[in-house]
Amino acid sequence: MSKEISKLKSRSEVPEELKWDLTKVYQNENELAEDIKGIQEEIKRADKLKNTLKDGSLALKEALKTYFTVERKTVKVYVYTSMLSDQDTNNKKNQGLFSQAQQLYAKVAAAFSWFEPELLALGEKKLNEYYDNDQELTGYKQYISEIMAKKDHLLSEKEEKLLAGASDIFSTPENIFGILNNADLKFPTVTDEKGNKVELSHGLYGKFLESGNRRVRKEAFQGLYKTYGQFENTFATSLAAHVHTHNFQASVRNYPDAVSAALSTNNIPVAVYDTLVERVNNHLDLLHRYVEVRKEVLNLDSVHMYDLYAPITKLPEEKYNYKNSKKIALDALSIFGEDYVQTVKNAFASRWIDVLENTGKRSGAYSSGMFDTPPYILLNWQDNLESLFTLVHEMGHSMHSYLSNHNQPYHYSDYSIFVAEIASTTNENILTQYLLDNSDDLQFKAYVLNHYLDGFKGTVYRQTQFAEFERWLHDQDKAGLPLTSQELNNKYANLNEHYYGPAITNDPEIALEWSRIPHFYYNFYVYQYATGFAAASALAGKIVKEGPASYLEFLKSGSSALPIDIVKQAGVDMTKPNYLDDAFVVFEQRLGELEDVLAKLQN
Ligand SMILES: [Zn+2]
Repeated sequence: MSKEISKLKSRSEVPEELKWDLTKVYQNENELAEDIKGIQEEIKRADKLKNTLKDGSLALKEALKTYFTVERKTVKVYVYTSMLSDQDTNNKKNQGLFSQAQQLYAKVAAAFSWFEPELLALGEKKLNEYYDNDQELTGYKQYISEIMAKKDHLLSEKEEKLLAGASDIFSTPENIFGILNNADLKFPTVTDEKGNKVELSHGLYGKFLESGNRRVRKEAFQGLYKTYGQFENTFATSLAAHVHTHNFQASVRNYPDAVSAALSTNNIPVAVYDTLVERVNNHLDLLHRYVEVRKEVLNLDSVHMYDLYAPITKLPEEKYNYKNSKKIALDALSIFGEDYVQTVKNAFASRWIDVLENTGKRSGAYSSGMFDTPPYILLNWQDNLESLFTLVHEMGHSMHSYLSNHNQPYHYSDYSIFVAEIASTTNENILTQYLLDNSDDLQFKAYVLNHYLDGFKGTVYRQTQFAEFERWLHDQDKAGLPLTSQELNNKYANLNEHYYGPAITNDPEIALEWSRIPHFYYNFYVYQYATGFAAASALAGKIVKEGPASYLEFLKSGSSALPIDIVKQAGVDMTKPNYLDDAFVVFEQRLGELEDVLAKLQN
């Protein structure tokens, strides 16, 4: 590895055709500077519009247009400078531009902070009069109604001020967790595959658990939890305090419980959450069967928690260079029709993609952009199948953005986080099916099948396990019951045993897993990973059978309706169990295929 690092190109050495073309956003620095200056001027107009919404539909329209004009320009500056900064984080000048953009963004939000309370104060009756008077205003109806939905949960101005003033106090538990977890914890050393003693870290832990060497996996697992065990009371206290802030805020804002409060942000019915947990619990037998497959392939007497991430199939040795991968991607995605394919070709030809790794470049991959820019993609290309999956995943995000940007007005172009991972994961599913249909190589098929099953395990099963635990934490606190480390350990151990089933040996250490998961400091967030993945599995199946028409409409919808209704248009009702059952059918079918392929490989 160290050899490769020394070979890493500097930004200027990367060929132009493999870099994204950001001149499509701003031709030069002057254009950027002009926009920044423009925003600073336009922010001043916000103050003049304060207290005018009651004057009539024209005033409301003026406020909305002014806000969206300033916001649009600010998002453009923000997105552009964040990409500049990511392409080479060693570039101090670009870092400076990005932090300037961040400040600008906060300024815009503050300048218009009066808008929502003033709109809520207008009331439905007055708003309906406005709509009757002014056809153009109805073009903002969905946007306005999502704000109005908060009206029963808004408190008096004085109370809101009090709560706002305490917001940094509410985030104290999360900060304590972060400091303890990232700065103060000292992990023991582990002997790696080559016999080197290495100090364990969060990053290395993940790598070690994927090691083919069981001794390494076990040492890392036990070493990590030994450290967490020393601080279990502190971790329990900070998590309990965090959960308590959610329950407190939900109750003062008149929500029945914390999960309702959290899901109301995107207008997601709690039934979506409950249905997920219920259906996943109904299909745990399939997870148990998958654990059995791991046991057989790894040739183990018993499967331990530290065996769950060990590779059971080999990454194909075949080189997937970028040029060839583009061809495969285009072929796989041709199921979406000629227009979609043409746009993907255009993405390749007009340099939406920053392909190669270079010194200082941000790691990982993402899709970024906004209404007035192409939907760019950042990659760190390696010549392997995983990179092809990443390309197709990010292209799913970018095509979603492209189609929403081209079919919605600016204020409805940005889609909700609840639907974001559906388009990307659907593309991965389409690629999975394509690769399976186009190969006779059993080793290769085994890899592709397991790639899917492993993703399903980590996303649908594991995130639902987290979601169930998160729900329990809040219920427990709400009922005034204790959340000591012992309570948390017991609950987590039981849940883990229940999820992974009889095929797994229950290592006592796993009871502590809750203590190291940062997602428990989010607010009912993780369930969306599971619902998104399951919806994508169900959608990909539908597309293969029925064609892409309704799915393409979903990609064009942006935020023009509630997220749950947008997905419904694509044929998936996430308040009902059917889409989950459909996803489990795909999981079971591919699990069966993997079992068959593995049996053939052994003969
Ligand atoms: Zn994604």
